Amino acid sequence: MDDPIQREHRRRFLLHALRLSGATAAAWLAPQTVLAGPAVVGAVRHASNGNLTRVVFDIDGPVQHNLFTLNGPDRLVVDLANARVAGALDLGDTRGGVLNGLRHAARNGGDLRLVLDLRSGVSFRSSVLVPESANAAYRLVIDLETTGSTAAQAAAPAATAVVTPPEKLREVVVAIDAGHGGKDPGAVGPNGTREKDIVLAVARRLATLVQREHGMRAVLIRDADVFLPLRARIQKAREHQADLFVSIHADAHKDKRASGSSVYILSPRGATSEHARWLAERENAADLVGGVSLDDKDDLLASVLLDLSQTATIEASSILADTLIGELHRVGKVRSKKVEQAGFAVLRSPDIPSVLVETAYITNPAEERRLRTTAFQQSMAAALMGGLRDYFRTYAPPGTILAEARDGRHVIRNGETLSAIASQYRVSVNALRSHNGLDSDTIRTGQVLMIPRQES
Ligand SMILES: [Zn+2]
Repeated sequence: MDDPIQREHRRRFLLHALRLSGATAAAWLAPQTVLAGPAVVGAVRHASNGNLTRVVFDIDGPVQHNLFTLNGPDRLVVDLANARVAGALDLGDTRGGVLNGLRHAARNGGDLRLVLDLRSGVSFRSSVLVPESANAAYRLVIDLETTGSTAAQAAAPAATAVVTPPEKLREVVVAIDAGHGGKDPGAVGPNGTREKDIVLAVARRLATLVQREHGMRAVLIRDADVFLPLRARIQKAREHQADLFVSIHADAHKDKRASGSSVYILSPRGATSEHARWLAERENAADLVGGVSLDDKDDLLASVLLDLSQTATIEASSILADTLIGELHRVGKVRSKKVEQAGFAVLRSPDIPSVLVETAYITNPAEERRLRTTAFQQSMAAALMGGLRDYFRTYAPPGTILAEARDGRHVIRNGETLSAIASQYRVSVNALRSHNGLDSDTIRTGQVLMIPRQES
Protein backbone atom coordinates (compact mmCIF):
# COMPACT_ATOMS: atom_id res chain seq x y z
CA MET A 1 0.00 0.00 0.00
CA ASP A 2 1.16 3.53 -0.64
CA ASP A 3 -0.03 6.50 1.33
CA PRO A 4 -3.84 6.27 1.00
CA ILE A 5 -4.02 5.45 4.67
CA GLN A 6 -2.37 8.70 5.60
CA ARG A 7 -4.61 10.48 3.15
CA GLU A 8 -7.56 8.78 4.71
CA HIS A 9 -6.41 9.98 8.09
CA ARG A 10 -6.34 13.52 6.89
CA ARG A 11 -9.67 13.19 5.23
CA ARG A 12 -11.15 11.62 8.30
CA PHE A 13 -9.81 14.55 10.19
CA LEU A 14 -11.30 17.04 7.79
CA LEU A 15 -14.63 15.34 7.97
CA HIS A 16 -14.35 15.45 11.70
CA ALA A 17 -13.57 19.14 11.53
CA LEU A 18 -16.57 19.74 9.33
CA ARG A 19 -18.78 17.75 11.61
CA LEU A 20 -17.79 19.97 14.48
CA SER A 21 -18.11 23.14 12.48
CA GLY A 22 -21.66 22.27 11.51
CA ALA A 23 -21.04 22.75 7.83
CA THR A 24 -23.92 22.18 5.48
CA ALA A 25 -24.13 18.95 3.59
CA ALA A 26 -24.29 20.57 0.19
CA ALA A 27 -21.22 20.86 -1.96
CA TRP A 28 -21.23 23.01 -5.03
CA LEU A 29 -18.79 23.07 -7.85
CA ALA A 30 -17.54 26.33 -9.21
CA PRO A 31 -19.82 27.07 -12.17
CA GLN A 32 -17.03 26.91 -14.74
CA THR A 33 -16.39 23.26 -13.95
CA VAL A 34 -19.85 21.96 -14.68
CA LEU A 35 -19.53 19.31 -17.34
CA ALA A 36 -21.73 19.14 -20.37
CA GLY A 37 -22.67 15.46 -20.07
CA PRO A 38 -24.17 13.77 -17.03
CA ALA A 39 -21.81 12.45 -14.35
CA VAL A 40 -21.89 8.67 -14.17
CA VAL A 41 -22.00 6.87 -10.85
CA GLY A 42 -20.01 3.71 -11.48
CA ALA A 43 -19.61 1.86 -8.20
CA VAL A 44 -20.35 1.98 -4.50
CA ARG A 45 -18.56 0.47 -1.55
CA HIS A 46 -18.75 0.79 2.20
CA ALA A 47 -16.92 0.01 5.39
CA SER A 48 -17.76 0.30 9.07
CA ASN A 49 -15.83 0.89 12.22
CA GLY A 50 -17.81 0.99 15.41
CA ASN A 51 -20.71 3.39 14.92
CA LEU A 52 -19.06 5.01 11.90
CA THR A 53 -19.87 3.86 8.39
CA ARG A 54 -18.27 5.22 5.28
CA VAL A 55 -19.99 4.93 1.92
CA VAL A 56 -18.02 5.82 -1.21
CA PHE A 57 -19.48 6.36 -4.66
CA ASP A 58 -17.13 6.44 -7.64
CA ILE A 59 -18.22 9.09 -10.10
CA ASP A 60 -16.58 9.87 -13.42
CA GLY A 61 -16.64 13.65 -13.01
CA PRO A 62 -17.38 16.46 -10.63
CA VAL A 63 -20.94 16.57 -9.43
CA GLN A 64 -23.13 18.84 -7.38
CA HIS A 65 -24.69 16.94 -4.52
CA ASN A 66 -27.13 17.48 -1.71
CA LEU A 67 -27.88 15.16 1.20
CA PHE A 68 -30.65 14.90 3.72
CA THR A 69 -32.12 12.28 6.01
CA LEU A 70 -35.68 11.08 6.39
CA ASN A 71 -37.13 8.90 9.10
CA GLY A 72 -39.88 6.33 9.48
CA PRO A 73 -38.09 4.32 8.10
CA ASP A 74 -34.65 5.91 8.40
CA ARG A 75 -32.96 6.74 5.13
CA LEU A 76 -30.40 9.05 3.65
CA VAL A 77 -31.22 10.75 0.38
CA VAL A 78 -28.40 11.80 -1.94
CA ASP A 79 -29.42 14.04 -4.81
CA LEU A 80 -26.94 14.42 -7.63
CA ALA A 81 -27.46 17.08 -10.25
CA ASN A 82 -27.06 16.00 -13.87
CA ALA A 83 -26.05 12.44 -13.12
CA ARG A 84 -26.97 8.87 -13.92
CA VAL A 85 -26.08 5.35 -12.82
CA ALA A 86 -23.90 3.19 -15.07
CA GLY A 87 -25.24 -0.23 -14.11
CA ALA A 88 -26.48 -2.01 -11.04
CA LEU A 89 -25.31 -0.36 -7.82
CA ASP A 90 -24.79 -3.12 -5.32
CA LEU A 91 -23.95 -2.51 -1.68
CA GLY A 92 -22.91 -6.14 -1.18
CA ASP A 93 -23.02 -7.51 2.32
CA THR A 94 -24.75 -5.15 4.73
CA ARG A 95 -25.44 -7.61 7.53
CA GLY A 96 -24.97 -6.19 11.00
CA GLY A 97 -24.40 -2.63 9.78
CA VAL A 98 -26.49 0.49 9.56
CA LEU A 99 -26.95 0.16 5.79
CA ASN A 100 -29.99 -1.80 4.70
CA GLY A 101 -30.16 -1.19 0.97
CA LEU A 102 -29.62 1.23 -1.89
CA ARG A 103 -32.16 2.42 -4.42
CA HIS A 104 -31.95 5.02 -7.12
CA ALA A 105 -34.22 6.88 -9.49
CA ALA A 106 -33.97 9.59 -12.11
CA ARG A 107 -35.67 12.85 -11.27
CA ASN A 108 -36.21 16.31 -12.74
CA GLY A 109 -35.17 14.96 -16.10
CA GLY A 110 -31.40 14.60 -15.80
CA ASP A 111 -30.86 14.43 -12.04
CA LEU A 112 -30.30 11.33 -9.94
CA ARG A 113 -31.61 10.45 -6.50
CA LEU A 114 -29.85 7.76 -4.49
CA VAL A 115 -31.59 6.47 -1.38
CA LEU A 116 -29.67 4.59 1.28
CA ASP A 117 -32.06 2.62 3.46
CA LEU A 118 -30.84 2.60 7.05
CA ARG A 119 -31.41 0.52 10.12
CA SER A 120 -31.18 3.49 12.49
CA GLY A 121 -30.94 7.24 12.55
CA VAL A 122 -27.61 8.78 11.54
CA SER A 123 -25.76 12.02 11.43
CA PHE A 124 -23.73 12.40 8.27
CA ARG A 125 -21.00 14.30 6.48
CA SER A 126 -20.08 14.27 2.85
CA SER A 127 -17.20 15.41 0.72
CA VAL A 128 -16.07 15.00 -2.83
CA LEU A 129 -12.52 13.78 -3.29
CA VAL A 130 -10.90 14.95 -6.46
CA PRO A 131 -8.75 12.34 -8.23
CA GLU A 132 -5.05 12.88 -8.40
CA SER A 133 -4.80 11.51 -11.91
CA ALA A 134 -7.02 12.35 -14.84
CA ASN A 135 -8.13 8.74 -15.31
CA ALA A 136 -9.21 8.10 -11.75
CA ALA A 137 -12.75 8.57 -10.47
CA TYR A 138 -14.07 11.31 -8.29
CA ARG A 139 -15.28 9.94 -5.02
CA LEU A 140 -18.33 11.08 -3.16
CA VAL A 141 -17.57 10.09 0.41
CA ILE A 142 -20.39 9.93 2.92
CA ASP A 143 -19.65 9.27 6.56
CA LEU A 144 -22.54 8.12 8.68
CA GLU A 145 -22.54 8.05 12.44
CA THR A 146 -25.36 6.20 14.14
CA THR A 147 -27.09 8.47 16.61
CA GLY A 148 -29.47 6.17 18.45
CA SER A 149 -27.96 3.54 20.70
CA THR A 150 -28.49 0.11 19.25
CA ALA A 151 -29.13 -2.92 21.40
CA ALA A 152 -25.57 -4.09 20.87
CA GLN A 153 -24.10 -0.77 21.99
CA ALA A 154 -26.38 -0.58 25.00
CA ALA A 155 -25.24 -4.01 26.09
CA ALA A 156 -21.55 -3.10 26.04
CA PRO A 157 -20.28 -2.21 29.50
CA ALA A 158 -18.75 1.26 29.71
CA ALA A 159 -15.60 -0.10 31.30
CA THR A 160 -12.00 0.71 30.55
CA ALA A 161 -11.35 -2.88 29.65
CA VAL A 162 -13.39 -2.80 26.46
CA VAL A 163 -11.43 0.08 24.97
CA THR A 164 -9.06 -1.37 22.42
CA PRO A 165 -6.21 0.96 21.63
CA PRO A 166 -5.27 1.39 17.98
CA GLU A 167 -2.17 -0.58 17.11
CA LYS A 168 0.11 2.39 16.95
CA LEU A 169 -0.87 5.93 17.72
CA ARG A 170 1.05 8.61 15.89
CA GLU A 171 2.06 12.12 16.73
CA VAL A 172 0.46 15.05 14.96
CA VAL A 173 2.93 16.73 12.63
CA VAL A 174 3.18 20.50 12.49
CA ALA A 175 5.06 21.94 9.51
CA ILE A 176 6.63 25.26 10.49
CA ASP A 177 7.58 27.42 7.56
CA ALA A 178 9.91 30.37 8.07
CA GLY A 179 9.09 32.65 5.14
CA HIS A 180 11.64 33.80 2.56
CA GLY A 181 15.32 32.89 2.97
CA GLY A 182 18.53 32.88 0.94
CA LYS A 183 18.41 35.32 -1.94
CA ASP A 184 14.93 36.41 -0.86
CA PRO A 185 15.33 38.54 2.27
CA GLY A 186 11.60 39.27 2.55
CA ALA A 187 10.72 42.68 3.92
CA VAL A 188 13.50 44.83 5.36
CA GLY A 189 13.01 47.15 8.34
CA PRO A 190 14.14 50.79 8.51
CA ASN A 191 17.17 49.67 10.50
CA GLY A 192 18.05 46.88 8.13
CA THR A 193 16.41 43.97 9.95
CA ARG A 194 15.61 41.27 7.44
CA GLU A 195 12.33 39.39 7.63
CA LYS A 196 13.98 36.09 6.69
CA ASP A 197 16.22 36.17 9.79
CA ILE A 198 13.49 37.11 12.27
CA VAL A 199 11.01 34.55 11.03
CA LEU A 200 13.59 31.77 11.11
CA ALA A 201 14.31 32.60 14.75
CA VAL A 202 10.60 32.51 15.63
CA ALA A 203 10.10 29.29 13.64
CA ARG A 204 12.95 27.57 15.49
CA ARG A 205 11.56 28.63 18.83
CA LEU A 206 8.13 27.36 17.90
CA ALA A 207 9.61 24.06 16.69
CA THR A 208 11.35 23.62 20.05
CA LEU A 209 8.06 24.15 21.87
CA VAL A 210 6.18 21.78 19.58
CA GLN A 211 8.83 19.09 20.08
CA ARG A 212 8.41 19.38 23.83
CA GLU A 213 4.69 18.85 23.55
CA HIS A 214 3.38 15.35 24.15
CA GLY A 215 1.89 13.90 20.98
CA MET A 216 3.26 16.57 18.64
CA ARG A 217 6.16 16.66 16.25
CA ALA A 218 7.60 19.66 14.40
CA VAL A 219 9.01 19.81 10.91
CA LEU A 220 10.98 22.94 10.06
CA ILE A 221 10.45 23.63 6.39
CA ARG A 222 13.73 25.51 6.35
CA ASP A 223 16.27 25.50 9.15
CA ALA A 224 18.89 27.64 7.47
CA ASP A 225 19.20 30.79 5.42
CA VAL A 226 18.26 29.10 2.16
CA PHE A 227 15.86 29.96 -0.59
CA LEU A 228 12.96 27.56 -1.08
CA PRO A 229 10.34 28.01 -3.79
CA LEU A 230 6.84 28.15 -2.39
CA ARG A 231 5.84 24.90 -3.97
CA ALA A 232 8.86 23.14 -2.49
CA ARG A 233 7.65 24.26 0.92
CA ILE A 234 4.27 22.66 0.38
CA GLN A 235 6.01 19.60 -1.02
CA LYS A 236 8.16 19.21 2.05
CA ALA A 237 5.15 19.46 4.33
CA ARG A 238 3.42 16.79 2.29
CA GLU A 239 6.46 14.52 2.39
CA HIS A 240 6.36 14.69 6.16
CA GLN A 241 2.61 14.11 6.11
CA ALA A 242 2.03 17.26 8.06
CA ASP A 243 -1.31 17.74 9.75
CA LEU A 244 -0.92 21.50 9.82
CA PHE A 245 1.18 24.08 8.03
CA VAL A 246 2.11 27.36 9.73
CA SER A 247 4.00 29.93 7.67
CA ILE A 248 5.68 32.70 9.66
CA HIS A 249 6.29 36.19 8.29
CA ALA A 250 6.79 39.79 9.32
CA ASP A 251 4.62 42.30 7.55
CA ALA A 252 5.55 45.40 5.56
CA HIS A 253 3.65 48.56 4.74
CA LYS A 254 4.63 51.84 3.16
CA ASP A 255 2.96 53.58 6.10
CA LYS A 256 5.49 53.14 8.90
CA ARG A 257 2.71 53.46 11.49
CA ALA A 258 1.07 50.21 10.44
CA SER A 259 1.40 47.75 13.33
CA GLY A 260 0.17 44.50 14.78
CA SER A 261 -0.08 40.87 13.84
CA SER A 262 -2.50 39.19 11.49
CA VAL A 263 -3.36 35.68 10.38
CA TYR A 264 -4.17 34.66 6.84
CA ILE A 265 -5.76 31.62 5.33
CA LEU A 266 -6.21 30.79 1.69
CA SER A 267 -9.06 32.46 -0.08
CA PRO A 268 -10.53 30.26 -2.79
CA ARG A 269 -11.68 33.27 -4.69
CA GLY A 270 -8.59 35.35 -4.36
CA ALA A 271 -7.90 38.19 -2.03
CA THR A 272 -10.73 39.64 -0.02
CA SER A 273 -9.25 43.09 0.14
CA GLU A 274 -6.84 45.20 -1.86
CA HIS A 275 -4.37 45.11 0.97
CA ALA A 276 -4.52 41.34 1.14
CA ARG A 277 -4.12 41.09 -2.61
CA TRP A 278 -1.08 43.30 -2.55
CA LEU A 279 0.43 41.13 0.13
CA ALA A 280 -0.46 37.99 -1.72
CA GLU A 281 1.34 39.22 -4.79
CA ARG A 282 4.36 40.24 -2.84
CA GLU A 283 4.64 36.85 -1.15
CA ASN A 284 4.02 34.97 -4.37
CA ALA A 285 6.72 36.95 -6.11
CA ALA A 286 9.28 35.02 -4.09
CA ASP A 287 9.05 32.22 -6.60
CA LEU A 288 10.18 34.62 -9.30
CA VAL A 289 13.07 35.75 -7.14
CA GLY A 290 14.32 32.18 -7.14
CA GLY A 291 14.11 31.97 -10.90
CA VAL A 292 11.14 29.64 -10.81
CA SER A 293 8.13 31.27 -12.36
CA LEU A 294 4.66 30.32 -11.25
CA ASP A 295 3.28 28.70 -14.37
CA ASP A 296 -0.42 28.22 -13.89
CA LYS A 297 -0.68 25.24 -16.19
CA ASP A 298 2.10 23.53 -14.34
CA ASP A 299 0.63 24.31 -10.96
CA LEU A 300 -1.27 21.26 -9.79
CA LEU A 301 -2.85 23.23 -7.05
CA ALA A 302 -4.12 25.97 -9.30
CA SER A 303 -6.76 23.80 -10.82
CA VAL A 304 -10.30 24.75 -10.09
CA LEU A 305 -11.12 21.17 -9.26
CA LEU A 306 -8.63 21.14 -6.47
CA ASP A 307 -10.22 24.26 -5.10
CA LEU A 308 -13.23 22.11 -4.46
CA SER A 309 -11.32 19.70 -2.25
CA GLN A 310 -9.79 22.69 -0.55
CA THR A 311 -13.08 23.82 0.84
CA ALA A 312 -12.87 21.51 3.82
CA THR A 313 -9.22 22.38 4.35
CA ILE A 314 -10.00 26.07 4.32
CA GLU A 315 -12.66 25.53 6.95
CA ALA A 316 -10.16 23.78 9.17
CA SER A 317 -7.59 26.49 8.43
CA SER A 318 -10.10 29.08 9.46
CA ILE A 319 -10.69 27.38 12.80
CA LEU A 320 -6.95 27.21 13.40
CA ALA A 321 -6.50 30.86 12.42
CA ASP A 322 -9.23 31.95 14.83
CA THR A 323 -7.55 30.02 17.60
CA LEU A 324 -4.19 31.61 16.81
CA ILE A 325 -5.67 35.11 16.76
CA GLY A 326 -7.08 34.46 20.21
CA GLU A 327 -3.60 33.65 21.48
CA LEU A 328 -1.83 36.47 19.63
CA HIS A 329 -3.81 38.99 21.68
CA ARG A 330 -1.60 37.97 24.60
CA VAL A 331 1.52 39.14 22.78
CA GLY A 332 0.40 42.47 21.46
CA LYS A 333 -1.84 44.25 19.05
CA VAL A 334 -3.69 42.13 16.54
CA ARG A 335 -4.26 44.20 13.43
CA SER A 336 -7.45 42.45 12.36
CA LYS A 337 -9.72 40.59 14.73
CA LYS A 338 -10.96 38.43 11.94
CA VAL A 339 -9.09 35.97 9.80
CA GLU A 340 -7.84 37.47 6.55
CA GLN A 341 -8.06 35.51 3.33
CA ALA A 342 -5.63 35.83 0.46
CA GLY A 343 -4.30 33.85 -2.44
CA PHE A 344 -0.93 32.99 -0.92
CA ALA A 345 0.51 30.12 -2.92
CA VAL A 346 2.22 28.67 0.14
CA LEU A 347 -1.20 28.04 1.69
CA ARG A 348 -2.49 26.04 -1.25
CA SER A 349 -2.12 22.53 0.07
CA PRO A 350 -5.41 20.95 -0.83
CA ASP A 351 -5.52 18.78 2.24
CA ILE A 352 -3.29 20.33 4.89
CA PRO A 353 -4.92 23.12 6.89
CA SER A 354 -2.56 26.05 6.42
CA VAL A 355 -2.19 29.49 7.94
CA LEU A 356 0.19 32.38 7.40
CA VAL A 357 1.03 34.48 10.45
CA GLU A 358 2.32 38.01 10.02
CA THR A 359 3.94 38.44 13.42
CA ALA A 360 4.33 42.23 13.33
CA TYR A 361 5.27 45.08 10.99
CA ILE A 362 8.98 45.07 10.36
CA THR A 363 8.52 48.44 8.61
CA ASN A 364 7.29 49.99 11.87
CA PRO A 365 10.43 51.14 13.74
CA ALA A 366 9.04 50.17 17.17
CA GLU A 367 7.90 46.75 15.98
CA GLU A 368 11.17 46.22 14.15
CA ARG A 369 12.93 46.70 17.50
CA ARG A 370 10.61 44.26 19.21
CA LEU A 371 11.00 41.68 16.46
CA ARG A 372 14.73 41.59 17.13
CA THR A 373 14.34 40.76 20.82
CA THR A 374 14.42 37.19 22.03
CA ALA A 375 11.63 38.07 24.46
CA PHE A 376 9.26 38.97 21.65
CA GLN A 377 10.32 36.04 19.49
CA GLN A 378 9.75 33.66 22.38
CA SER A 379 6.37 35.08 23.36
CA MET A 380 5.27 34.94 19.72
CA ALA A 381 6.33 31.28 19.55
CA ALA A 382 4.54 30.58 22.83
CA ALA A 383 1.35 32.21 21.58
CA LEU A 384 1.42 30.13 18.42
CA MET A 385 2.08 27.03 20.51
CA GLY A 386 -0.95 27.86 22.65
CA GLY A 387 -3.06 28.13 19.52
CA LEU A 388 -1.84 24.79 18.21
CA ARG A 389 -2.55 23.14 21.52
CA ASP A 390 -6.09 24.53 21.59
CA TYR A 391 -6.70 23.51 18.03
CA PHE A 392 -5.58 19.93 18.47
CA ARG A 393 -7.52 19.63 21.70
CA THR A 394 -10.61 19.52 19.51
CA TYR A 395 -9.38 18.61 16.05
CA ALA A 396 -6.61 16.06 16.53
CA PRO A 397 -6.93 13.57 13.67
CA PRO A 398 -8.12 10.07 14.50
CA GLY A 399 -5.29 7.66 15.19
CA THR A 400 -3.15 10.22 16.96
CA ILE A 401 -2.05 10.31 20.57
CA LEU A 402 -3.84 13.63 20.94
CA ALA A 403 -7.11 12.28 19.58
CA GLU A 404 -7.02 9.53 22.17
CA ALA A 405 -6.35 12.11 24.84
CA ARG A 406 -9.24 14.21 23.57
CA ASP A 407 -11.48 11.22 23.88
CA GLY A 408 -10.33 10.80 27.46
CA ARG A 409 -8.03 7.86 26.86
CA HIS A 410 -4.33 7.51 27.35
CA VAL A 411 -2.45 4.49 26.10
CA ILE A 412 0.53 3.91 28.34
CA ARG A 413 3.88 3.92 26.59
CA ASN A 414 7.00 2.17 27.68
CA GLY A 415 8.63 3.90 30.65
CA GLU A 416 5.71 6.15 31.58
CA THR A 417 4.75 6.58 35.19
CA LEU A 418 1.40 7.35 36.72
CA SER A 419 2.65 10.64 38.10
CA ALA A 420 4.08 11.71 34.74
CA ILE A 421 0.77 10.93 33.07
CA ALA A 422 -1.12 12.78 35.79
CA SER A 423 0.96 15.91 35.33
CA GLN A 424 0.68 15.69 31.56
CA TYR A 425 -3.10 15.91 31.80
CA ARG A 426 -2.99 18.32 34.73
CA VAL A 427 -4.85 15.98 37.05
CA SER A 428 -3.75 14.57 40.39
CA VAL A 429 -2.36 11.06 40.73
CA ASN A 430 -5.19 10.36 43.16
CA ALA A 431 -7.83 11.40 40.66
CA LEU A 432 -6.20 9.25 38.00
CA ARG A 433 -6.00 6.30 40.36
CA SER A 434 -9.59 6.50 41.52
CA HIS A 435 -10.94 7.22 38.04
CA ASN A 436 -9.39 3.98 36.83
CA GLY A 437 -10.00 1.90 39.92
CA LEU A 438 -6.27 1.35 40.45
CA ASP A 439 -5.14 0.25 43.89
CA SER A 440 -1.48 0.71 43.18
CA ASP A 441 0.72 2.87 40.98
CA THR A 442 1.81 -0.10 38.91
CA ILE A 443 0.89 0.31 35.28
CA ARG A 444 1.93 -1.57 32.18
CA THR A 445 2.74 -0.58 28.61
CA GLY A 446 -0.31 -0.70 26.37
CA GLN A 447 -2.76 -0.35 29.24
CA VAL A 448 -5.49 2.19 28.60
CA LEU A 449 -6.23 4.79 31.24
CA MET A 450 -9.34 6.89 31.25
CA ILE A 451 -8.38 10.49 31.92
CA PRO A 452 -10.66 12.41 34.25
CA ARG A 453 -11.65 15.94 33.28
CA GLN A 454 -9.13 18.56 34.21
CA GLU A 455 -9.56 19.70 37.76
CA SER A 456 -8.56 23.31 37.30
ZN1 LIG B 1 6.88 37.53 4.26
